[in-house]
Order: sequence, then structure tokens, then C-alpha cells
Amino acid sequence: MTTNEKPKRKHIACGDVVAGCAFTASAESDQDLIEKVAAHAAQDHGVKEVTPELAAKVKAAIRTA
Ligand SMILES: [Zn+2]
Repeated sequence: MTTNEKPKRKHIACGDVVAGCAFTASAESDQDLIEKVAAHAAQDHGVKEVTPELAAKVKAAIRTA
């Protein structure tokens, strides 16, 4: 296994989408990140479904380090 490449990690702060929330997550792809946020949103915000509108907000809040 060669791991010379450093994949860029993506980060999100839920507080950028939901005011006052301190949850943050990071992942290697938008898809993984959205899944993490969706799981958090379901648990802590009672969001049962990631609507296209919510997914767009989440994508807009993603930062690449
Ligand atoms: Zn949150």
C-alpha cells in the first residue's frame, strides 16, 4: 500500500447551517460528509430526511482544508 497522496479532507461546522450548534465533522468526500451531517441532524435536530434544499445548504458550508 502506498499512501503518498494526501487526500484533502473536507470539514463542516453544523453551526454554519444551524445557528448555535457546535457539531463539526470531517470526511474525505462531500458524500461522506453529508452522511455524517445527516446522521447528526437526525439525532440532534430531529431531521428525518435530507431534502435537496438542506443538502445544498450543507454543501455550501463545506470547507476544504
Ligand atoms: Zn447540528
